[in-house]
Amino acid sequence: MRPIRRGPSPRLNDFIDYADAKPELVSRLGPYCSFCERRVPTNLAVEHVQPKGLPAYAQLIGRWDNFLLSCVNCNATKKDKDVRLAQVLLPDRDNTFAALIYQPDGTIAPSPTARAAGLAQMVVETLALTGLDKAAADTPDQNGKQVALDRMRQRMETWLEAIYAKSAIDAHPTNQVIRHMAARLASASGFFSIWMAVFDDDADMRRRLIDTFPGTGESGCFGMTDARPVSPAPNPDALAGGGKI
Ligand SMILES: [Zn+2]
Repeated sequence: MRPIRRGPSPRLNDFIDYADAKPELVSRLGPYCSFCERRVPTNLAVEHVQPKGLPAYAQLIGRWDNFLLSCVNCNATKKDKDVRLAQVLLPDRDNTFAALIYQPDGTIAPSPTARAAGLAQMVVETLALTGLDKAAADTPDQNGKQVALDRMRQRMETWLEAIYAKSAIDAHPTNQVIRHMAARLASASGFFSIWMAVFDDDADMRRRLIDTFPGTGESGCFGMTDARPVSPAPNPDALAGGGKI
């Protein structure tokens, strides 16, 4: 889950229609689901971190600090579940990259950093919030080849894309055009964390990925020189409940 900085509200007061926040959110965060990291060119929704459907948070319906972006799948699973800011990890508040490990089989697990901080259970609850813990569905085509329809299978597919890009770079490590194109491919596919995991041993590519996905470097969750995660998140806008990891 890519850490992001939404930054100060573009409006002096709350949004009357929360949908009006979408252009600025997409401009600052990129056209990606804030939870599953997929690129969603259309129908990306303005997501209320604390759900607008619960009376306790009704006053947050137009509040910039309560907005993220989400896809239909993450949105449908999250629904009106109560979100206590101290009890789940959130990409605008915490270093969610440092908290999670993405694996080639499409699964996501608590990182050693999260375990050391005693946050493994919080990671489990964070993944369950939007269904990032859901198993891959069995969706073969008529030849028995699995078709990547769900988020888990799409993560597996992106791993293969990233490994392919990495093999091209490893064959021509100083070729700037290939490096540039690999970062552009990552931007086009989404799944920032998978690309970062595959390029874990390549500081130049990590830097390019951080710079390619809007709002990532601004979060302060990655070192300026080594492009490694900084934990806890500096939480530059002092959001409530932020900086847990
Ligand atoms: Zn999503």
